[in-house]
Amino acid sequence: MLFDFHCHSTASDGALAPDILMARAARNGARHIALTDHDQLAGLAQARQSAEQLGMQFVDGVEISVSWRGMSVHIVGLNLDIHNTALVQGLSDNASGRAKRAVIIANQLEEVGVRNVLERALTEANGRMDLLARTHFARVMVADKKAISVRHVFQNYLTEGKPGFVAHEWAALAQAVEWIHGAGGVAVLAHPGRYPHDADSEMDLIREFVGLGGQAIEVVTGSHSKKQYKHYAQICESFDLYASAGSDFHGVGESKMDIGRAPALPTGLRPVWNLWN
Ligand code: AMP
Ligand code: MN
Ligand code: MN
Ligand code: MN
Repeated sequence: MLFDFHCHSTASDGALAPDILMARAARNGARHIALTDHDQLAGLAQARQSAEQLGMQFVDGVEISVSWRGMSVHIVGLNLDIHNTALVQGLSDNASGRAKRAVIIANQLEEVGVRNVLERALTEANGRMDLLARTHFARVMVADKKAISVRHVFQNYLTEGKPGFVAHEWAALAQAVEWIHGAGGVAVLAHPGRYPHDADSEMDLIREFVGLGGQAIEVVTGSHSKKQYKHYAQICESFDLYASAGSDFHGVGESKMDIGRAPALPTGLRPVWNLWN
């Protein structure tokens, strides 16, 4: 089964509009696809229409930003009711925080010599303050030749300890999981191998997520190595979790994995789509 349950469009920090993104997914062979923009649902209607016209099964999704022990953690919600009031309100609160954070990021980047950065990042984000991600700032800075790639801008400017980094309080883990469940969706811990913590803290996060009713984790993602596929496959087995896979595609030349090209899940795992198929 060819599926991809994690990717981004111009409704958040992806480089491609939802319809173009879906066309690329279909061309790459995806049969089942979700769009999971950061704290945003605005791309879903157009993505669904395009995906279905192209013969793919479309799943409504979102990637919710969460603060957990001072770290940013991402929870993907899949197969949810995108009109659910509490979900829509919760995401809107996260997005307002994003707009406020963008102003602070911009001020800090101006201090290290990036001119008119807010205005230009905003152009990258369709003029929407509430969807401004660090990725948009990074693209402006690549254009300015502050670094050779988005990845390098993150390393040198946008991560903890670097001049453009801003600590931010997103939704709590329990809230995000509750919004997803309230909207009838499945909560998936996104790219667990990407969080900067030790093995004990990782176990605490997974236990807390499972305790809140979280049912799945991403095993296969553009953020994981093959070794990590094995590690998270074992975690699925020991916690009786469902497994998800997604490219986390943002754009050509920016992402390790192309949309629709996520490798199959390791054998023996229960795929997350069993929960709604
Ligand atoms: P934000 O939600 O605005 O804090 O931005 C998080 C987004 O930045 C992630 O979803 C990725 O798209 C991107 N990102 C985070 N870390 C990196 C990195 N090291 N290299 C490239 N992109 C990154
Ligand atoms: Mn992103
Ligand atoms: Mn993420
Ligand atoms: Mn993502």
